[in-house]
Amino acid sequence: MTKQFAVIGNPIEQSRSPELHHAFAAKTGVDLNYQKILAPLDAFETTVQDFFAHNGAGMNVTVPFKEQAFALCDQLTERAKIAKAVNTLWMQDGKLFGDNTDGQGLVAAIQALGWTLEQSRILILGAGGATRGVIYPLAQAGAKQIVIANRTVARAEQLVEDLKNSVPQTALSAIALEQLTGEFDLIINATSVSLTGDALQLPESLVFHHAYEMAYGKKSSFLDQAHARGVPTSDGFGMLVGQAIEAFSIWNGVKPELKDFL
Ligand code: NAP
Repeated sequence: MTKQFAVIGNPIEQSRSPELHHAFAAKTGVDLNYQKILAPLDAFETTVQDFFAHNGAGMNVTVPFKEQAFALCDQLTERAKIAKAVNTLWMQDGKLFGDNTDGQGLVAAIQALGWTLEQSRILILGAGGATRGVIYPLAQAGAKQIVIANRTVARAEQLVEDLKNSVPQTALSAIALEQLTGEFDLIINATSVSLTGDALQLPESLVFHHAYEMAYGKKSSFLDQAHARGVPTSDGFGMLVGQAIEAFSIWNGVKPELKDFL
């Protein structure tokens, strides 16, 4: 029987998840159908319940519902508990399970680039939902230092407070975005400036050796500045594929190779 999957969000038209999951299915021989569901902003819960009541096998969750999905689950993975957000849902023994695969998707994408995370010093720009989701997986992958820089510094400080006990091997700290300085192996842009068309200014006193932009398919002043410095760069398409592979593997028990889909 064809297994039914979906991605739920609002808006949803832009989602590339159906094409990715159909490509994974073609490669691995899994029989599935994966659709987009536009949920009304005030009806996320009933839309999810309806999907699983009609034999839905699994669901991805995107903006703006990841926190609501977290609140809805009966069982959560450790990384979803830490992220306080869920992007992957499935039913097991009548219970709704939730995971967050975004962070592992980023780690897999960075490793596929051949960039080393073991003992790395990482600067993350932004302290929103995406940053919350990636700190634990980056720490698990061996980061020795993670500095979070945010326009609203109190939000970065709160993130450090919430997460520091979950990543005891990693030095976690917060700074204001206008205080960028120091040397890092990797800088990650997890602000939404590339979506809004705003620019980020990286000062000369900030030294970095690799640059990862979480957004994809958009012009990025962050990547332009990294290119000008001649450091290796990547946009966020690999992270998107990586999180989709993790979800596919949870649901179907078979893991496609990231490099086949980049
Ligand atoms: P979010 O929760 O809305 O957080 C946005 C962050 O951007 C906040 O830290 C905010 O700072 C900062 N920001 C917004 N405008 C700014 C400006 N003009 N100057 C400086 N900082 C600014 O967003 P999110 O969910 O974390 O997503 C962040 C980015 O990651 C987006 O580009 C998203 O597309 C991308 N993403 C990609 C993937 C993938 O699979 N590739 C997955 C998840 C997210 P304040 O706190 O000061 O407002």
